[in-house]
Amino acid sequence: MSRTEEFELIIVGGGPAGLCAAMYAGRGMLKTALLERGVPGGELLNTEWIDDYPGFEHVLGRELAQKMTAHALVFGAELRQENVESIVRREGGVFEVATTGGTTYEAPAVILTAGGTPTKLDVPGEHEYAGRGVSYCAVCDGAFFKGDTIAVVGGGDAAVEEADYLTRYAEKVYVIHRRDEFRASRILQERLFANPKIEVIWNKQVRELGGGPAGLESLLLEDTVTGDAQSLKATGCFIFIGFRPNTGLIKQHVAHDASGYVITDDRMMTSIPGLFAAGDLRVQLTRQVTTAVGDATTAAIAVEKFLKDRQAGVPGAKVGV
Ligand SMILES: Cc1cc2nc3c(=O)[nH]c(=O)nc-3n(C[C@H](O)[C@H](O)[C@H](O)COP(=O)(O)OP(=O)(O)OC[C@H]3O[C@@H](n4cnc5c(N)ncnc54)[C@H](O)[C@@H]3O)c2cc1C
Repeated sequence: MSRTEEFELIIVGGGPAGLCAAMYAGRGMLKTALLERGVPGGELLNTEWIDDYPGFEHVLGRELAQKMTAHALVFGAELRQENVESIVRREGGVFEVATTGGTTYEAPAVILTAGGTPTKLDVPGEHEYAGRGVSYCAVCDGAFFKGDTIAVVGGGDAAVEEADYLTRYAEKVYVIHRRDEFRASRILQERLFANPKIEVIWNKQVRELGGGPAGLESLLLEDTVTGDAQSLKATGCFIFIGFRPNTGLIKQHVAHDASGYVITDDRMMTSIPGLFAAGDLRVQLTRQVTTAVGDATTAAIAVEKFLKDRQAGVPGAKVGV
């Protein structure tokens, strides 16, 4: 049976950004619902160790997720297990957030923190060795591969830039690309070609990732022209073949960049008044737990101001300083 519930703020997504926004919103005494389709924690749950969150030199991703969840709930935010299917702003400025469970949540402000999904190779071994050699984040995991031989898969800006970055840790970096030229910008390519630790393997696609109890050991490559197979020894495989921000929930036009990342102002408000965005789905230089919680802090505090202005009848309810 369908039903409607009213809140002052709805947060969509319970990763680091959503949990931090819920903590601040609860502390700001806003009646808040945090809607998360699974177990709260987001990408923290797919990360074995986090070594770059201030105050935690070495913490399990799932442990940090549990601590963030507990902290969000302390201040009174309501956590609901809900899969959101649409966000629509009605005339008058109230949002309808519809879930597959049949409940519609209504509020004058929404913070979208639904993250994004790295594109997978979809080959045998990828899931098995995720976190044990297979990674989608150079800044996060590069330091685990000091002195190793690793592979980077992809040919766009992310692959080429991150391959160069990874040579500060790895002894040797193979870049595997399925074509005979990169899509990456010229300047990034020049830097890559000038780096003696990098070797490009053209016209190859990864067919399988293999290893043992200690983690990844090798990649099975197939030539995209001849079909020949070869094995490449590597203890790491960094995959940069795309990242899709989870923005399909927004059913009205929202400003975004060419890759679909949401554009916000410095208060994290999107081009739709009252709709804020924080974390991995937002346009920004880097995507980390620290940046996600930073965005979320700004967004939650901006929402408080937005709601006050709205109540006071400030035209357009622009967020004041
Ligand atoms: C393998 C890996 C390792 C990483 N390691 C590190 C690291 O060591 N250090 C670091 O700082 N960063 C690391 N990162 C990056 C970091 O995890 C992200 O930057 C951070 O989690 C982003 O937080 P977020 O809240 O924006 O998004 P996410 O963590 O992606 O959370 C989004 C949440 O939204 C929920 N959601 C999505 N759609 C819906 C829907 N329709 N309805 C309801 N809920 C929905 C998802 O279930 C998810 O819980 C790593 C990332 C990966 C993939």
